[in-house]
Amino acid sequence: MHRFEYHAPTSLDEAVALLKEHGDGTKLLAGGTDLLVHMKEGGLHPPRVVSLHAVAGLDGISFDKSEGLSIGSAVSMGDIEANDTIRQRYTALAEGAGIVGSVQTRSMATIGGNIANAAPSADTAPPLAVFDAIAQIIGSGGAREVPVIDLFEGPGSTVLAGDEVLTGFTLPTPPANTGSVYQRHTPRKIMDIAAVSVGVRLSLDGGNIGEARICLGAVAATIIRATEAEDALAGQTPSTELFAKVAELARAASSPISDVRGSAEFRHHLVGVMTKRCLDVALERAQEN
Ligand SMILES: Cc1cc2nc3c(=O)[nH]c(=O)nc-3n(C[C@H](O)[C@H](O)[C@H](O)COP(=O)(O)OP(=O)(O)OC[C@H]3O[C@@H](n4cnc5c(N)ncnc54)[C@H](O)[C@@H]3O)c2cc1C
Repeated sequence: MHRFEYHAPTSLDEAVALLKEHGDGTKLLAGGTDLLVHMKEGGLHPPRVVSLHAVAGLDGISFDKSEGLSIGSAVSMGDIEANDTIRQRYTALAEGAGIVGSVQTRSMATIGGNIANAAPSADTAPPLAVFDAIAQIIGSGGAREVPVIDLFEGPGSTVLAGDEVLTGFTLPTPPANTGSVYQRHTPRKIMDIAAVSVGVRLSLDGGNIGEARICLGAVAATIIRATEAEDALAGQTPSTELFAKVAELARAASSPISDVRGSAEFRHHLVGVMTKRCLDVALERAQEN
């Protein structure tokens, strides 16, 4: 690894000031499970690293029925996976966090790092998007909020400016009778990243589908919402035929590439199969809730 300057600010103001002072080459460090791998093996040589470890206030999870869920950017995947409220009310997010790497990875990896890293395969991104999560951001120009679905510009690229820090995420409280699920396909069973991933949330309204969200990962340059498929669900009575049609619409929304994890054709096909599966699971969970 190349030499670099290391800073350990104890406040957000200090972290932002360091980013502003030193410019674009400076990298934030959270759990380090992406950054340090890139620095050791990926040819990334930042002159400066600003650690968020000593910055207070980034590691909380709180829930209030009227305010929804609040998760600090430094919360680990392990803590998300284990949180009872998230497991019950935001099941897809617990599933996304619980699938990341190994136990060791999940104890270090943070949700903020997963999102800021902006891999189209990031396992917490579709779950956050199906719950209409809003990212909280702070920079030298002040605080701002961006819907998670609008954060990504392409692989490895977000709308965050060089002096901005992701501080957390807020997720509205889902309506009653909501079910959600996140599934991914990987060529290897564990310790691999998604070739295709699907997040689904269904909220029932008197037996019909009220609100629906479908978010696809790893099949385009960023995560994508399959909005035509969502619209086809709204107000409808759930049925096998409806879900088959919706799965086809989701498939049509994807534009995967061929790579080591599978051909474009295979991944395209998988989007349909997995969307159908996820709709079935989300419906079952919505009916139980
Ligand atoms: C063995 C292994 C297995 C893995 N498996 C998976 C997997 O199954 N699924 C998956 O999605 N990922 C996986 N990953 C990738 C990684 O673990 C996750 O993306 C993780 O959530 C990154 O979080 P971190 O805290 O470690 O980020 P870091 O490595 O600290 O940072 C990642 C990037 O985000 C930036 N950053 C971090 N925090 C902030 C912030 N608050 N504001 C702005 N920018 C920030 C950093 O500057 C850096 O560019 C794996 C990694 C390893 C090493």
